[in-house]
Amino acid sequence: MSSQIRHTTAELQAMDAAHYLHPFTDHKDLGARGARIIERAQGVYLWDSEGNQILDGMAGLWCVNIGYGRTELAEVAYKQMLELPYYNSFFQCANPPAVQLAKAIAEIAPAHMNHVFFTGSGSESNDTVLRMVRRYWDLKGKPGKKTIISRINGYHGSTVAGASLGGMSVMHEQGDLPIPGIVHIPQPYWYGEGGDMDPEEFGLWAARQLEAKIEELGEDKVAAFIAEPIQGAGGVIIPPSTYWPEIKRILAKYDILLVVDEVICGFGRTGEWFGSQYFDLKPDLMPIAKGMTSGYLPMGGVIVGDRVANTLIEHGGEFFHGYTYSGHPVAAAVGLENLRILREEKIVDYVKQEAAPYLQSKIASLAEHRLVGEVRGVGLLGAIELVKNKATRERFAEKGSTGTLCRDLCVRNGLVMRAVGDTLIMSPPLVIKPEEIDELVAKAWRCLDLAAEQLG
Ligand code: PLP
Repeated sequence: MSSQIRHTTAELQAMDAAHYLHPFTDHKDLGARGARIIERAQGVYLWDSEGNQILDGMAGLWCVNIGYGRTELAEVAYKQMLELPYYNSFFQCANPPAVQLAKAIAEIAPAHMNHVFFTGSGSESNDTVLRMVRRYWDLKGKPGKKTIISRINGYHGSTVAGASLGGMSVMHEQGDLPIPGIVHIPQPYWYGEGGDMDPEEFGLWAARQLEAKIEELGEDKVAAFIAEPIQGAGGVIIPPSTYWPEIKRILAKYDILLVVDEVICGFGRTGEWFGSQYFDLKPDLMPIAKGMTSGYLPMGGVIVGDRVANTLIEHGGEFFHGYTYSGHPVAAAVGLENLRILREEKIVDYVKQEAAPYLQSKIASLAEHRLVGEVRGVGLLGAIELVKNKATRERFAEKGSTGTLCRDLCVRNGLVMRAVGDTLIMSPPLVIKPEEIDELVAKAWRCLDLAAEQLG
């Protein structure tokens, strides 16, 4: 007999409020409103327990890259569970799917990156990053190089290391973060913080904050710089064109590792396999997760460049680090099948050549709406800035209220978009079809209209 019993929405909501502490949720709200219970999904659509069909403009949490309902992933998981549901990768052990997945990832990664360390999530991947980076410099005989420079409003996960590497003030306020040895510089968010500078000028200014911080701390203290190619959770912040080239110049001048957090941008989101390829970066480490299994099972990893891998392998001895579920055979089998689908169905090419140009041209038209100050995007990432005054970029008085209003109107009208303050963001499944993009944009327009009516 199955362990799953069917409950009504009201029963589920009552049990939920009574027992389930959700991530990133004000639990008191659940008592008043009840959680939205998502029951099933297919393609780019979700259905809630009341039967409402909702277009998932966020691919879950930026992760369902190949879309919902791919039975191939369920089948490989089932077969792998029968064959070998679990075994660990500690102490010289491995399992076939984990080995094959490591090889397949090395094939799509930049040429100088040939090893993968498996984890269970993006946050764990960034914990691994911290351990590896510091271990690397110890092995290089530079134990003073311990500090990691990150960016304000970056997101690198929710564990103690992940949240510390991230630059979210609301997260730092809870639990005395960041931990020592992590410092933050300003983000390259021109629309919100560029002031009177033009975007290119501001991009250079933001990049040079890295150089200033290295000079302040001393090169001999700095281990690495970590950044998302495009900040996702911070509000789909796309650096001005001058930013990454200047960061590259600075990193080449100083002996500091580059960690590019590919948890969102990896596996096709920008129309390249990795955001690093989109921006022509040469990372030493790339934390990954999400699109690695299209979210069908939890899995993450760190793709390790040859410089770090060779040092760890040649001089490191045993690395006292790893997780029970590192290289989990079922997750790895699902990851491998996900990668096969992405490759054989040429989904990354589809993003680059068709879906992204179409989505970007369609969402650009939203900039004509009176609430919208800027629309920006790369690949299948998009952001809509909501403002009171388009010309001055002045925001609405109560920060975040317009974003929340629009987001709630969207869900009620059959579209998931996320609100980061007063920025609406989107990241649909990579397989979204042109007619589904039309639907997404039409629904977004309608919600902006409804919000404008309510705001008067
Ligand atoms: N890094 C980035 C760039 C992310 O966007 C996220 C999650 O959104 C993480 C790390 C953390 O991943 P996880 O939630 O799987 O721990």
